[in-house]
Amino acid sequence: MALREVRFVPDSVLRKSAKPVKEMTPRLQTLVKDMYNTMDNEDGIGLAAPQVGILKRIFTVGIGDIRLCFVNPEVLEQSGEYLDIEGCLSIPGETGVVERPTYVKVRAMDENNKEFIIEARYLLARCILHELDHLDGVLFTDKLVDVEDDFEPEEQEEDLLISLTYTKKEN
Ligand code: ZN
Repeated sequence: MALREVRFVPDSVLRKSAKPVKEMTPRLQTLVKDMYNTMDNEDGIGLAAPQVGILKRIFTVGIGDIRLCFVNPEVLEQSGEYLDIEGCLSIPGETGVVERPTYVKVRAMDENNKEFIIEARYLLARCILHELDHLDGVLFTDKLVDVEDDFEPEEQEEDLLISLTYTKKEN
């Protein structure tokens, strides 16, 4: 099991835009395996390729049983808004409150070049959008909302995955 070195702020790679992936090659598939291992090893729920120094539009998500790799993700729809506390493996020890949509629909490719469409909400939607921001050099600390010291997140739906559909088309 290979681990990648997680980059921390103010590493400039975290502020750069990642490039689209033309095709998932064996080399990039190895990167994804390493990203899953690194994410798990760091107890993270998401990890974007720029966080390990690779400027490609790839991220992994791991929340409970939901383990997914997103390549060239594209937001199709989003709605709602709510506040919750976020952290980031690249910003150790820091947390803050960020507003995100409660619902998001995203199209992406997985590590095997298969296209899928996912509908997610709450923590899963939040995680996907946090990781997507990394691909554009955006960090959660850019989006902090001022709240009272005794802020508590509102009650949330526990069903995070609404649907996951693989499209017929192979890229
Ligand atoms: Zn992050």
